[in-house]
Amino acid sequence: MSNETNNEKLVPVIRVLKEKCINCHRCIAVCPVKMCNDGSGDTISLHSELCIGCGECIRTCKHGARVGIDDFDTFIRDVKTGTRIIAVVAPAVIANFSNNYLKFNGFLKKLGVQAVFDVSFGAELTIKSYVAYKKKYNPSLIIAQPCPSLVSFIELYHPELIRYLAPADSPMGHIMKVIRKFYPQYAECKIAALSPCYSKRREFNAVGLGDYNVTFLSIQQYLEDSGDRLENYSALPYENPPAERAVMFSTPGGLMQTFARYDKNAFYSTRKIEGVPDVYQYLDRLKQFLDEQNPPCSLVDCLSCKLGCNGGAGTLTQQRYVEDIELDAEKRSHEAQAQYKQSLFSKPKLEHILDQYWDEGLFTRSYVDRSALFHTMIKKPSEEELEAAYKKLYKINEDDFLNCGACGYTNCEQMAIAIINGLNKPEHCWHYTIVQNKLNEERYQYELKTAIEKIYALTLQEINSNIKGINALLSLITEAVTHIKKSFVIIEAMVHKIRSINENVKRNAQTVIQLNTSSLEGKNQILKIGELVGKMAEQSTILIHISKIIESVSQETKVLGMNASIEAAHAGEIGKGFAVVAGEIRHLAETAGIQSREIEHSLGNIKSLIDSSLESSVYAQNQFDAIITLVNAVKNEDQIIADAVEIESNNGKQVIDALTLINQLITTIKNETTLLLNSSKTVLDNMSSLKDIH
Ligand code: SF4
Ligand code: SF4
Ligand code: SF4
Repeated sequence: MSNETNNEKLVPVIRVLKEKCINCHRCIAVCPVKMCNDGSGDTISLHSELCIGCGECIRTCKHGARVGIDDFDTFIRDVKTGTRIIAVVAPAVIANFSNNYLKFNGFLKKLGVQAVFDVSFGAELTIKSYVAYKKKYNPSLIIAQPCPSLVSFIELYHPELIRYLAPADSPMGHIMKVIRKFYPQYAECKIAALSPCYSKRREFNAVGLGDYNVTFLSIQQYLEDSGDRLENYSALPYENPPAERAVMFSTPGGLMQTFARYDKNAFYSTRKIEGVPDVYQYLDRLKQFLDEQNPPCSLVDCLSCKLGCNGGAGTLTQQRYVEDIELDAEKRSHEAQAQYKQSLFSKPKLEHILDQYWDEGLFTRSYVDRSALFHTMIKKPSEEELEAAYKKLYKINEDDFLNCGACGYTNCEQMAIAIINGLNKPEHCWHYTIVQNKLNEERYQYELKTAIEKIYALTLQEINSNIKGINALLSLITEAVTHIKKSFVIIEAMVHKIRSINENVKRNAQTVIQLNTSSLEGKNQILKIGELVGKMAEQSTILIHISKIIESVSQETKVLGMNASIEAAHAGEIGKGFAVVAGEIRHLAETAGIQSREIEHSLGNIKSLIDSSLESSVYAQNQFDAIITLVNAVKNEDQIIADAVEIESNNGKQVIDALTLINQLITTIKNETTLLLNSSKTVLDNMSSLKDIH
């Protein structure tokens, strides 16, 4: 038995799925060693070399962010590609597969595994090793070591307890060594351990045995993914001799019960303890007992998991009731014991078998002091460093040390040490968060107040300027309304005028039409007068001609009168009467001649007048034509004016409608602007009250 000191790192058996981690720190809270967790980031990360692989964080994480690492993938690949592999199956198989635990052997064989061994038999040999060790060295205390997590815990964190660790292999170590020594037919085979424990991988590395650590959980997952069930396989026995009560080794107290076969006082001298955090707290205290030279017992039967190996992180027993699990294990134990009791010489028979396989010196195991690695990685802080960390955490007074565990650590000091070692940050401390929130609140309040004051000043300026603008706008609107109203009145008057012009134009048109009619009538009358005057001129000409005839006749008559007078004169007294007549005729002729000339002269004058009337008539006719033309022109112009006036009238109406609409809109704008003004004033008032909020 030789224990060594080295810094060789433990292989990772647990990993963090960062994408699933919500940084809740529950895993730190349950972790028995804390400092393997790095909570300084946005998600947790793990320093595997400080993790003891207890798997408590897997059970605790509600987000599936913690998973175990086993060798299932390489095992299944190798066994399917013809690698010769034998399997050793942990006693916890009963807890996982209940009555089908022997069918599990059938499944493994079908898979291609060459042979299946029962680790329970290795457990029987383990107890034999303990008994031999106790007998030979009579140690004050033996700490059982089937649990690799507890071994890692002692190696890393309590190296002073290494000397109490049983210097014997675990049951798995025993059975593997038995296979290597007593089953030469499997010498070339690799060994796969079917176990409930991710941490077993480390034990295999430490003792140089075991090629694959495959958890029951991975096998179950494989069966489920393949749609397969153990019920489909035959129940096959193990290759090795059957174990007796050591089949209970996976159950808390199983080791003690097996040990009791050799030492009836075992139940009194053994301290049975399991489960996180109890077992770790117990081991923490154990040093104190030992320092006081007062070991509380002679054997510590300890397992990391609460249900023992039955509840290992690589099992599927989370879904089963404890009583069912333990009942299965008890039943198997009774059956195993019954097998040996069938013989009257049962005990000697078992011992005889064990003697065949137990070999002194074959099953010794040494341990490694790994504490140097821990001390290298986790610095023990000085008082000053602790004080500085406390200051960062706002821990000034005693009351500030809440020791509430919200950060995941047992107390504030642990958190401070984690921060000093870069494994956490103040933001994850509850007390820090409260103080920081308070400070932030004060800072926010101050910033808010400053911001409000700034906003108030700016807003006040803006609102005042707005109010000014709105007032100016209101004045402009009022002015616009006045203008619009004036325009309205003017345009209405204009439209009214246009309408009256329109009326006048219409009346004018009637007058023009009448004028036209009258002109035409006048022209016709003139034409008729012209015709009459023409006829009168003709008659005058005739009369003048008649007058000339009369004058000519009167000349001739006068000549005749003179001739008659001459003749009468010649006739003497007889001609005297005639001479008188002739004188009268001549006188008449002369008078007729004079009157005829006067008539002719008058007719001539009349004719001149008629001619002149005729000319006037033609002139008047031409004038009428000109008037008619002008009247028609006036009429056309009138029509154009009437059309234009009509259009203007319509346009005026449209302008009035538009103005009415504009007036309504402007009134609405004015109302809205007034509301805006009132709102601005209200905002101003509110701003004043806002300013008073502190
Ligand atoms: S328990 Fe740990 S691993 Fe899981 S989510 Fe919380 S911090 Fe992440
Ligand atoms: S396996 Fe155990 S020791 Fe490792 S981190 Fe999880 S709780 Fe901590
Ligand atoms: S007060 Fe902060 S540091 Fe202390 S235990 Fe609570 S959370 Fe952790």
